[in-house]
Amino acid sequence: MSSRVPDVTCDVAIAGGGPAGNAAAITLRHHGASVLVVDPGRMPRWKPGESLAPAARALLARLGVLERISAGPHTPCLGNQSAWGRNTLAESDFLFSRYGAGWHLDRVLFDRTLTDAARRAGARELTGRVGAARRVCGQWELAVGARTIRARYLLDATGAAARLARHAGATVTRTDRLVAVAALLPSGASNREVPRTSLVESAALGWWYTAPLSAGASVVMAMTDADLVARHALHTPEHWWKHLMATTHVRGRVRRVVPLQGGLRVVRAATSCTHPAAGPGWAAIGDAATTSDPIAARGILTALATGITAADAVHADAAGSSGALEAYAERIVSTHQEYLHARRICYGSEKRWDTPFWNRRR
Ligand SMILES: Cc1cc2nc3c(=O)[nH]c(=O)nc-3n(C[C@H](O)[C@H](O)[C@H](O)COP(=O)(O)OP(=O)(O)OC[C@H]3O[C@@H](n4cnc5c(N)ncnc54)[C@H](O)[C@@H]3O)c2cc1C
Repeated sequence: MSSRVPDVTCDVAIAGGGPAGNAAAITLRHHGASVLVVDPGRMPRWKPGESLAPAARALLARLGVLERISAGPHTPCLGNQSAWGRNTLAESDFLFSRYGAGWHLDRVLFDRTLTDAARRAGARELTGRVGAARRVCGQWELAVGARTIRARYLLDATGAAARLARHAGATVTRTDRLVAVAALLPSGASNREVPRTSLVESAALGWWYTAPLSAGASVVMAMTDADLVARHALHTPEHWWKHLMATTHVRGRVRRVVPLQGGLRVVRAATSCTHPAAGPGWAAIGDAATTSDPIAARGILTALATGITAADAVHADAAGSSGALEAYAERIVSTHQEYLHARRICYGSEKRWDTPFWNRRR
């Protein structure tokens, strides 16, 4: 008896079921394509990236999930506070944004909402990891465990490693070695006083960030370069606390608890760009195409936007518009250049520290 696992055939195979992969899946289903989303399906208890910019509203509406996200339990983010370039707090208020408030997300639930929406739109799912991708006679053959997936188009939505884009011949350029040393903490505020803003504060070895997660909890992150984590032993709770307690504003948002809940997590947050971000029959989307410094708080927005745009480009390409994927790749380059310019201005406006972290960014 044969134990051969049947092959799967589809118009578009999407590797990665994060926001980018699911935004693409929903959009392609709206275009009538048959779609398979492959993801290991191991949802973590916590995933970084909880501030969603107000500008995401239009994208969520196009994907048909705006009402669901607005219904909660995500909480409104009314703006940002920052002590950057000076010790006092400046506020940017989303009240004056043409989009209204943003969100402090329950990130795991947010990702699950998009997965559910893709499923309801008719995308098929396969639990697993795409191991290898090769192009045979104008089609993709992907290995997922013992299975072979055959697809006309491949979207790499696997996150910053962009493994499948590399299989397709692209290179990933990183411009820094930024990492987050993060902890989840009970909030310093009572439930009724939970802040509705995120808070950023610069310090000699980088910058601190905190935002409310769900009732009574906050995420607190020290952002610095990977080598500086080791140099300052920032991965040890003792030193992390010492640096946190030296802040002026962020320390006021937390309550001291030892040991830290779940310990400290060191997460890569480097800026990168994939060249090219698309080619014949494929495109990289979300972090697989371009990643940005969390100071920009735009990773999820970019994941949704690139997922939708690349899906539109695939649809156009299938209908005979030969320049659509190339135009998508050019757009990734130009938006990444604009972001790098904005990042230089942002870091250049903090002039108080003569330390490696800041000097590397000037
Ligand atoms: C410290 C930190 C803080 C951040 N803060 C913010 C923020 O406040 N706001 C914001 O908007 N963004 C933020 N971001 C960025 C944001 O989280 C990402 O940009 C976003 O998750 C990208 O979505 P994605 O779908 O491209 O990738 P991901 O969300 O990483 O999803 C990729 C998926 O692909 C799967 N996968 C991986 N390899 C394979 C494979 N071989 N085959 C199949 N599946 C695979 C993974 O399991 C995962 O499910 C932050 C990032 C970091 C690191």
